[in-house]
Amino acid sequence: MDSKSRPRVVVVGAGFGGLTAAQRLAHLPVQITVVDRKNHHTFQPLLYQVATAGLSPGEIAAPIRWILRGHTNIEVLLEEVRDFNLKERTVITNEQVLGYDYLVIASGASHAYFGHPEWERLAPGLKTIEDALEIRRRVLLAFELAERQVAAGVPDFPLTFVVVGGGPTGTELAGTLAEISRHVLANEFRSIDPARTKIVLLEGGPRVLPAYSEDLSRKAQEQLERLGVEVRTSNIVTGIEPGVVLVGKTPLITNVVRLSCRRETRALRWSSEHSKITIFVSLWNLEGSWSCSLAICAKASAEELFRRVRDTILRTAGRKEAR
Ligand SMILES: Cc1cc2nc3c(=O)[nH]c(=O)nc-3n(C[C@H](O)[C@H](O)[C@H](O)COP(=O)(O)OP(=O)(O)OC[C@H]3O[C@@H](n4cnc5c(N)ncnc54)[C@H](O)[C@@H]3O)c2cc1C
Repeated sequence: MDSKSRPRVVVVGAGFGGLTAAQRLAHLPVQITVVDRKNHHTFQPLLYQVATAGLSPGEIAAPIRWILRGHTNIEVLLEEVRDFNLKERTVITNEQVLGYDYLVIASGASHAYFGHPEWERLAPGLKTIEDALEIRRRVLLAFELAERQVAAGVPDFPLTFVVVGGGPTGTELAGTLAEISRHVLANEFRSIDPARTKIVLLEGGPRVLPAYSEDLSRKAQEQLERLGVEVRTSNIVTGIEPGVVLVGKTPLITNVVRLSCRRETRALRWSSEHSKITIFVSLWNLEGSWSCSLAICAKASAEELFRRVRDTILRTAGRKEAR
């Protein structure tokens, strides 16, 4: 079968979900187009290391073309998807309209600010390399500014970093901030002592890492406390203003806030706008959006989805060959 007569699969997003879908479907007689608005795949689990200057961006990103170079039936497009026309089976990007027989939407998730979009400017999330570099900039500048001010005679109050959200990202980030302030920066400043830095982790629920067992939550909290992180559970943030985080009515003075809360799935937004999304794949999502998205869009497990796609594609390919 030549590439033109093969069923066309468009995969939106080259995160873990999109790449896995494309690589597994590539073994079938299909022509696949992977569309991503970035030319690189980001290994998100290590973003916090970039945010805290432990790794450079190049160490956690790889070109999408390079990853998929071995699959001759996969084409990669650097374009942004703007819309879909499900009736006509097209994907509308900023550059063109792409036709498809099968559509995989794996566009990831974005941060949910619990109805407070204005917090984003003051407390950036951590989803992309750009976010990580922005957090790194704010963290390092906070130390630099404190050094300059104390050298100029301003009283030496310890720096305070607040991390909102005790999920996997928040706990990792709080722990790493503690490590860099206690160890990495230990001898690098003359007027301030980075080891005095206060790191506060605020979690609205009764324990950190709520998706895991209670035993693991307890151990994680103990480890964080050993590192010098102040863990405050059942602390719901009600406001974020420059230099201040409000917990209920109590203000907490801070230098850098990092928001690490629940995420919202982009495909969910799309699926509620359009009546039906063909497939949504988002794997390895620890914070809940994965199972939720699959249930709403497809009411099936990931394996079941792959099986259904594979069977349908094989059936269609068989029909086309028979003609
Ligand atoms: C800081 C952090 C730490 C984590 N740690 C862990 C961990 O330790 N273990 C674990 O299992 N999971 C971890 N996760 C979760 C895991 O990384 C994510 O669940 C996973 O990356 C989601 O993959 P995805 O393919 O659904 O989305 P993403 O990886 O977000 O990929 C979505 C892709 O779609 C593209 N895209 C989005 N919109 C458009 C558009 N309109 N047009 C074109 N392209 C678009 C994006 O550019 C991106 O490349 C972590 C996540 C974060 C943020």
